[in-house]
Amino acid sequence: MTDSAHNRLPDLTFLRLPHFPPGEVWLPGAGPGDPGLLTLHAVNALAQADIILHDALVDDAVLRLARPGIAVESAGKRGGRPSPAQQDITARLIALAGQGLRVLRLKGGDPFVFGRGGEEALGLAQAGISFRVIPGVTAGLAGLAYANIPATTRATNHGVFLVTGHDAPDTEHQLDWPAVARTGLPIIIYMGMKRLPLIAQDLLAGGLSPGTPVAIVRDATRKQQRVLMTTLEHAAAQADAAGLRSPAIIAIGEIVALRDALAPFAISLAETS
Ligand code: SAH
Repeated sequence: MTDSAHNRLPDLTFLRLPHFPPGEVWLPGAGPGDPGLLTLHAVNALAQADIILHDALVDDAVLRLARPGIAVESAGKRGGRPSPAQQDITARLIALAGQGLRVLRLKGGDPFVFGRGGEEALGLAQAGISFRVIPGVTAGLAGLAYANIPATTRATNHGVFLVTGHDAPDTEHQLDWPAVARTGLPIIIYMGMKRLPLIAQDLLAGGLSPGTPVAIVRDATRKQQRVLMTTLEHAAAQADAAGLRSPAIIAIGEIVALRDALAPFAISLAETS
């Protein structure tokens, strides 16, 4: 049976989504991949922008929602590959806004979660450029949901850690992993694949049991999403053996085990994206 509502969106004009004035920079989050996770504000921004500077992790399908024919530049940061320096990206945003363009700086996930959106916003503020930040669905939380792992349940946890596994090179800012382990809260790690062996060691040193459930969600929310279920002691070796690399979210804690009960009946959105 065909469903007449399928793929039909309501008329959104009554929402009066904001006008994008020339000379401004908007910083929307594009979400982790599945275009269905864009916010209406992000779609509204894409429809008006004159130029888009996007991160490496932004999906092509998201870019198809941009106004046809506009300039699209990749300004992605991606570990290990040559990419424009952060100050060059900010300088480019300032220069383009100065030319009177509607500049869209499209970030993966949420712009203010491990995405350097904070640095870029600061640079724009210092240059006197008006900007607007549009929150997005962050990969850590979407990755869990698409893998059928609740971030919290009353029976398991009263919070979660969202952390980066890619420690700042100056050691002062390194995360105290054993201290995180001692809280017993689930740990959701971004950019953690390279350092996973060391992170697992530190968490074991902090008292987490070797059998603590771990899920690694690679390419979360995309058609090619993969989920590896493992344990803390085997996570690094099994991820390596399975060829799981970045971009991936690593979830550690008892919440991960809930997936076994949910997955048999849960219909994955990733398959429809
Ligand atoms: N601002 C982004 C995070 C940028 S840091 C957000 O809020 O989601 C980049 C890291 O995000 C990657 O190394 C990976 O850990 C994670 N990530 C981004 N997209 C992802 C995806 N589709 N699947 C799994 N992890 C993803």
